[in-house]
Amino acid sequence: MTHCNNIVTIGFDGDDTLWHNESLFSLTQERFRALLSQSADPAALDRRLLEVERANLGVYGYGIKGFVLSLIETAITVTDGRVPARDLQALIEFGKAMLQHPVELLDGVAEVVEALSGRFRLLLITKGDLFDQESKIARSGLAERFHGVEIVSEKDPATYRRVLERHGVDPAGFLMVGNSVRSDILPVLEIGARAVHIPYHITWAHELAEAPADGYLGIGTMRDLPRLLGL
Ligand SMILES: [Mg+2]
Repeated sequence: MTHCNNIVTIGFDGDDTLWHNESLFSLTQERFRALLSQSADPAALDRRLLEVERANLGVYGYGIKGFVLSLIETAITVTDGRVPARDLQALIEFGKAMLQHPVELLDGVAEVVEALSGRFRLLLITKGDLFDQESKIARSGLAERFHGVEIVSEKDPATYRRVLERHGVDPAGFLMVGNSVRSDILPVLEIGARAVHIPYHITWAHELAEAPADGYLGIGTMRDLPRLLGL
């Protein structure tokens, strides 16, 4: 139980930690495969899309709008430029539906965040498109529970150092909670803070990272977090 002693501030990731997100991308990708089933086999299409997304991350950053542009670019490529405009229109509509999809909190999140908000300083640290993330936070009903909200373009050690410094948080008393080993765990351990991993049932290929052998704890659900903190 010593892992979570003397924690003052807890950082929460947003997507797939507080609310469902990757499931929405995964559903859209299924629709994308169906739309282009005449032009590409599903596995080849997935591979091509991931390549395009990775190449575009440095141009668009993370988020739905960049994802839609990558869908369009992939569709153009795999059809040798012959994809009909109505299919491109369908991809644009997929993106709009994602952006307007209701925010669905994960099981236990509302109760746990409320219970912890009186005892710890809570920060929400999420990456992605500013407009979309702000909108999701507003619609989540959780905004009031957090002392600070940080929407960042990348979650690396420098970003975490900067965020903690801005909020006057000592890494020694900071715990990050998130679903991505690559974004929520490894960079946090690197700056001398602690981390708890709560896996989501789907992980985007780009976020896959080899888990370090130790240095952090994993729990099955948000409902297990209060017990780790001695509550
Ligand atoms: Mg996440």
